[in-house]
Amino acid sequence: MDVSIVVPVYNECRNLSALYDRLRRMMETQRVSYEMIFVDDGSGDGSLEILKSFSATDPHVTVIEFMRNFGQHAAVMAGLERSTGEVVVTLDADLQNPPEEIPKLLQKMEEGYDTVGGHRQRREDFFLRKMASFFLNKWSASLFGLELKDYGCMLRAYRRTVVDQIVKCQETSTYIPALANSFAKRVTEIPVEHAARAEGTSHYSLLKLLRLNFDLMTGFSLLPIQLVGLAGVIVALFGLLFGAFLFVRRLMVGPEVEGVFTLFAIMFVFIGLQLLALGIVGEYVGRIYREVRRRPRSVVRKIYSQEKQ
Ligand code: UDP
Ligand code: MG
Repeated sequence: MDVSIVVPVYNECRNLSALYDRLRRMMETQRVSYEMIFVDDGSGDGSLEILKSFSATDPHVTVIEFMRNFGQHAAVMAGLERSTGEVVVTLDADLQNPPEEIPKLLQKMEEGYDTVGGHRQRREDFFLRKMASFFLNKWSASLFGLELKDYGCMLRAYRRTVVDQIVKCQETSTYIPALANSFAKRVTEIPVEHAARAEGTSHYSLLKLLRLNFDLMTGFSLLPIQLVGLAGVIVALFGLLFGAFLFVRRLMVGPEVEGVFTLFAIMFVFIGLQLLALGIVGEYVGRIYREVRRRPRSVVRKIYSQEKQ
């Protein structure tokens, strides 16, 4: 197998036919053997039936049915586990990543890269999200020491060696593009088109996005917690200086009660910082707890493909 295409699907019934047609048409122009793996992440809108109809007529298609919704990255992971292609391409099911861009990725892979990421040109998303992504990408780039413009784009190609390492990772919450980079030596990015979601709305609420980004930050770096430590040191030093200042003032000016409320304000800042610190520590502890339970990342109910029947 030359190329595997892995698509996570969660309630995308209105996009699937167009997606499948465009994928198939695009792959037919490539002179490679290929498979498409759709992972149904517990959809409740009939997506699974549509996917099953693809696999019933097309030997290239495999459908993995999850027991329930386990999340996008768990779905991609399950697809990677089952993939056999020398190169594996992931993309979203909502046609935000045009399938026609895949040949560009494959071409770049032929130059010998381990992973090729898409960098979304003219990204069609809500502007606040784009702004948040901009800063997160900058931060991720400095965290991972790898200057990529778009960590969030799921249209990416990975070499077999990288995929093999990714699927060996046992962690429950993960962020696949970042995980891939930790196993890849030659990494690059190419500009890809980005479309507005064809049908339906994003499955990511603000909270879910926040969680995902925490996966990215805490899963790949201790920097957040180290920053908290550093902030603690700075605040403590500041407090000491302030104490010294008050002491000197007491000697020079005598006792005073004005400024009590200023002190309150300062106290609130410190209390806020403490809560933030506790929160970040809690985030790590919670994640450690989740990992040590070693529950499966996802559970497959059934796999549909012609070869297995
Ligand atoms: N997805 C999934 N499980 C989920 C949420 C999303 O498999 O719990 C899939 C979804 O079907 C789509 C991709 O992940 O193929 C990206 O999701 P979405 O378009 O909602 O996210 P956005 O583009 O807003 O980041
Ligand atoms: Mg989308």
